Amino acid sequence: MLLYKQIPVVGWQRELAGAVRDPSVLMQALGLEGRGVNTDATRQFRLLVPHSYVARMKHGDWNDPLLRQVLPLDDELQMVEGFNHDPVGDQHALVADGVLHKYHGRVLLVTTGACAVHCRYCFRRHFPYSESNPVKGEWEGALAYIRANPDVCEVILSGGDPLTLADERLALFFKQLNGISHVKRVRFHTRLPVVLPSRIDAGFLQMLATIRQQVVMVIHANHAQELAADDVRHALAALHSAGVTLLNQAVLLRGVNDSVQAQVALSEALFAERVLPYYLHVLDRVAGAAHFEVAETEAIRMVDDMRQQLPGFLVPKLVREVAGENAKTPLF
Ligand SMILES: *Cc1c(COP(=O)(O)O)cnc(C)c1O
Ligand code: SF4
Repeated sequence: MLLYKQIPVVGWQRELAGAVRDPSVLMQALGLEGRGVNTDATRQFRLLVPHSYVARMKHGDWNDPLLRQVLPLDDELQMVEGFNHDPVGDQHALVADGVLHKYHGRVLLVTTGACAVHCRYCFRRHFPYSESNPVKGEWEGALAYIRANPDVCEVILSGGDPLTLADERLALFFKQLNGISHVKRVRFHTRLPVVLPSRIDAGFLQMLATIRQQVVMVIHANHAQELAADDVRHALAALHSAGVTLLNQAVLLRGVNDSVQAQVALSEALFAERVLPYYLHVLDRVAGAAHFEVAETEAIRMVDDMRQQLPGFLVPKLVREVAGENAKTPLF
């Protein structure tokens, strides 16, 4: 007999629990046997990729732009000068449990260390999540900070990935945030609509409808091929119908999207799903990701070429995150 009411496990959580964690399973699914995956790299930051995302990879192609984002490689173990463990200076901006206040009017909550996919280039791969987590204690520290700072008009839920949290947990936060009148906007930074689109289910949409503030969602797609699936299109259409403003941020990655053609295709594919390109980040110089770097001069040239081919609203802002600056630093 159950004594306590438990939070029921829903479909997307089951799908996440069944995501691929074993490199040999991924290789087999793609017909790419016969070459090893670096197990030391996996130990540092394990492989994690949902089946929905694997289904969009090209069979038999080691250079598939989706595969390259998740595949542990020998290159990650090379120590390269200038690449370190906290390239964006996040740990100096912590003002409360998991609360980063770096920029005027906006606080960013590191809601969880969990993601639905492990992106090899990620600058948070070394973040000490377990020591700094605002969900601990039912969000009280974060809410107290927001309440006490009336200049905070936007609350950004980041991570990890905030959408790996159950709807019930999110609802608890928003219920209290609704009562803080100076907060005008809520922003999610999430990769789940792209990598685990089943997350955008009826329960999530119902939860969204309880939020009093305007809702912005910054998704994270790096390549047009990531959007080329019905489940992703449906998720984005549902969010759009729910009145969510949809933006995209991408990271410029060697071997993934480092061509003008790939960037133009990404912008077009995003807009087809009613998502506007927001930022194109040059790589944060995190240890283990040096092989993804594209030189700034090349990045600037690419965005200049994009401007020749696209309307202004489909050209993302090329930025770098510089520790200690008051905003993302525009490069172009
Ligand atoms: C990127 C970032 C933001 C949001 O910056 P925008 O330019 O508004 O997108 C806010 N806080 C932190 C700590 C950030 O890193
Ligand atoms: S925080 Fe974002 S970029 Fe980093 S691993 Fe998670 S989903 Fe990928």
